[in-house]
Amino acid sequence: MGESLKKLQGKVAIITGGASGIGEETVRHFINHAARAVVIADVQDEKGQELAQSIGLDRCVYMHCDVSDEDQIKTVVETTVKTYGQLDVMFCNAGILKHEQAILDFDMYQYEKLFSINVRGAAASVKHAARAMVEGKVKGSIICTASTAATMGTPLHTDYTMSKHAVLGLMRSASKQLGEYGIRVNSVSPGAVATPLLCGIFGMEAEEVERTLESSCYLKGVLKAKHVAQAVVFLASDESEFITGHNLAVDGGAKM
Ligand code: NAD
Repeated sequence: MGESLKKLQGKVAIITGGASGIGEETVRHFINHAARAVVIADVQDEKGQELAQSIGLDRCVYMHCDVSDEDQIKTVVETTVKTYGQLDVMFCNAGILKHEQAILDFDMYQYEKLFSINVRGAAASVKHAARAMVEGKVKGSIICTASTAATMGTPLHTDYTMSKHAVLGLMRSASKQLGEYGIRVNSVSPGAVATPLLCGIFGMEAEEVERTLESSCYLKGVLKAKHVAQAVVFLASDESEFITGHNLAVDGGAKM
């Protein structure tokens, strides 16, 4: 493996929502960049286990974890530290987008369900990862997945837009509190990527979604999960050692 492919050598990481889409691609990138171990924390047990097995259980394991339940996150973090000795990287990526939520028909139940995952889940993930890093004296990196919806309003997905704005607030506030421990907190804000999440919203297969997205950014081509994973590797690695409190847009220059 070339030196340029060893950006995460020896690091131990947890990736929430790692069984699918952006998280899955990031699991593969972390392994390719020589991470010592990657823990996939997700609710899709079969998919997560298959992914871990296909990579090799010596370096990748799956743990069931519903991020809306703080105790489950705490357990995943504690088990990771017990098994591998420390936690270097937490990628708080689990998120959902399922229902249109126009403000005139805003459904409080759907809003609370979405917030319990996208916001409460992210906050609990940052909290327990940071505690493990502080206790272990690890100068770790925490990365949250926000969205282009975090910096501009998207029509019809009011609750999702609110939740991603909140993720940015979480990242910015946490980065200011954790700097003194050498812990960095940043976020990535992907544009539209044809993952199962977006295909569900469009009601289309990935290829069709990608055709729809073809002229949505100023760079020619289509944004892929790998482009987001590349940015996450950078923020997880020592190449970004003096970057914290930053939201990195990965959207090819979104036309929005
Ligand atoms: P995806 O549906 O392919 O992956 C999301 C993963 O999160 C799935 O594996 C799912 O099982 C998991 N998950 C859902 N609820 C969970 C819970 N309660 N606990 C643990 N895991 C849970 O979608 P994706 O597009 O890869 O989404 C990943 C992140 O990227 C999300 O936070 C999403 O909001 C964000 N995002 C996606 C896009 C896009 O266009 N795809 C754009 C911007 C931001």
